[in-house]
Amino acid sequence: MKASAFAYARATSVSDALELLHAHRDRAKVLSGGQSLMPAMNLRLISPELIVDIGELAELRGIAVTGNLLRIGALTRHVELARSPEIAAQAPLLAEAIAHVAHPAIRNRGTLGGSLAHADPASELPACMLALNATVIVRGRTGERRIAAQDFFTGIYETALSPEELLVAVELPAKPKNSAHFFHEFARRHGDYAITGLAAQALVDGDTLSDLRLAFFAAGDRPVLTKAASKLVGRAVTPAVLADAYGALSEELDPHDDQQASAAMRRHLAKVLLVRCVATLLRRPDLDAGGSA
Ligand SMILES: Cc1cc2nc3c(=O)[nH]c(=O)nc-3n(C[C@H](O)[C@H](O)[C@H](O)COP(=O)(O)OP(=O)(O)OC[C@H]3O[C@@H](n4cnc5c(N)ncnc54)[C@H](O)[C@@H]3O)c2cc1C
Repeated sequence: MKASAFAYARATSVSDALELLHAHRDRAKVLSGGQSLMPAMNLRLISPELIVDIGELAELRGIAVTGNLLRIGALTRHVELARSPEIAAQAPLLAEAIAHVAHPAIRNRGTLGGSLAHADPASELPACMLALNATVIVRGRTGERRIAAQDFFTGIYETALSPEELLVAVELPAKPKNSAHFFHEFARRHGDYAITGLAAQALVDGDTLSDLRLAFFAAGDRPVLTKAASKLVGRAVTPAVLADAYGALSEELDPHDDQQASAAMRRHLAKVLLVRCVATLLRRPDLDAGGSA
């Protein structure tokens, strides 16, 4: 199948793109790397009247470290994130996660902004934004809004973006000293969407964790920054503490059944991920000795 007929405009500046979006509202769609938009159009899941191509807007590209902040332009491609020394040094969780996003051909075109705006609940990068405490920066004709990543994702393929706004960048705190991260996903094949996954970062001080941010994906209608993390911070972690944390996590997750896995299987995998994550962050393989898989 091919897409329905549509008009095409190549934006010459951010303001030009915003004028076009304002004029056409929800009849228009932004095109970045096209790796999700074009398949959806070809399957006629969506039929926008106008495509606003922002791919030439150099001001939306690039990775910069300023003081304690890392700013990543929305048009930065997955491959650029994977190869960036700034990302490797300041957001190693993101560097690790990128390798799990689709395949090289898609990573060569797909962008960070496109992945976040698309908001697939099984996507890796939205969960990383929660784990890394990112701020999403969006721009409309009347100015910019800064939205905490945990408030940006509002449902399956839904975000806080209005049809007249562009996602222009994200900002992340640079990697704190004594921080450690964890990323793992269960997928049928490397590069497939996750069945369930976890992106996490914490401060580690000897035997204890603080500022633990556990972001599960493919475990609900959006990435989940679990409050159960509070059960694991500032104390010695024992199997009983872990069990308590899992009990709390289970109440927060709302996984679905599909052809890949049942909701019960996803809950089980979330528990496995929680145990592995804490064992990895604390370098305590004994916590995972029961063979959580
Ligand atoms: C075979 C295959 C496998 C895949 N596997 C994975 C996977 O494992 N994990 C994963 O996360 N993704 C996967 N994807 C999806 C894909 O990697 C990302 O969704 C994609 O990279 C999104 O970026 P893009 O630049 O291509 O966005 P586009 O396709 O251009 O746009 C996606 C959506 O976001 C909107 N949009 C784009 N940029 C902006 C912006 N700056 N401001 C506002 N709205 C915007 C568009 O209008 C559209 O609705 C896969 C895709 C394919 C085809």
